[in-house]
Amino acid sequence: MDIIINSLYSNKDIFLRELISNASDALDKIRFLSLTDKEVLGEGDNTKLEIQIKLDKEKKILSIRDRGIGMTKEDLIKNLGTIAKSGTSAFVEKMQTGGDLNLIGQFGVGFYSVYLVADYVEVLSKHNDDKQHVWESKADGSFAVSEDTWNEPLGRGTEIRLHLREEAGEYLEEDKLKELVKKYSEFINFPIHMWASKE
Ligand code: ADP
Ligand code: MG
Repeated sequence: MDIIINSLYSNKDIFLRELISNASDALDKIRFLSLTDKEVLGEGDNTKLEIQIKLDKEKKILSIRDRGIGMTKEDLIKNLGTIAKSGTSAFVEKMQTGGDLNLIGQFGVGFYSVYLVADYVEVLSKHNDDKQHVWESKADGSFAVSEDTWNEPLGRGTEIRLHLREEAGEYLEEDKLKELVKKYSEFINFPIHMWASKE
């Protein structure tokens, strides 16, 4: 984890690209399922296949949510929980031999780039096959997953809350975010909405 953080530090903007790309993948998955089973989309807001980015300047939280396929408790543990994923060692090895660090996403460890800007991350997720759960972790490699009985129900999908590091305050500025969203949304087929809480 430290190696990943330190070597990517000069390029920390890419965390947003990785999160948008994960949200888009999740939306693709539910859309694909809905081709053969319309029921999976549910109704109301759940049918809106979009990405929302929210800035809470007071709490210094940047969140990104999607109405994609979501993750079950098991998915949260399996997909986010283990830094020992096969891609990690491949990525670290590549970096040590002078590879392009910007390519983190290609090693299946793109999610970990959130720790470039956050020191605490919560992932709320609701999959059609399970109750809503929260995965949480500080940058120390350990994590916890529990049933989410306190946050507002997501309906379906995933919300990633980044508790920003002191030195990552620039990501609470709307102009900065807008510029990044524009840059990273070029090949994304879903609408991205952004809003900020009042200061
Ligand atoms: P990759 O996208 O290359 O598989 P990541 O580290 O970016 O690797 O993400 C790991 C896994 O976590 C994804 O494969 C996916 O299963 C899960 N995941 C991450 N973000 C989301 C999301 N927003 N919705 C659903 N699943 C997600
Ligand atoms: Mg990814």
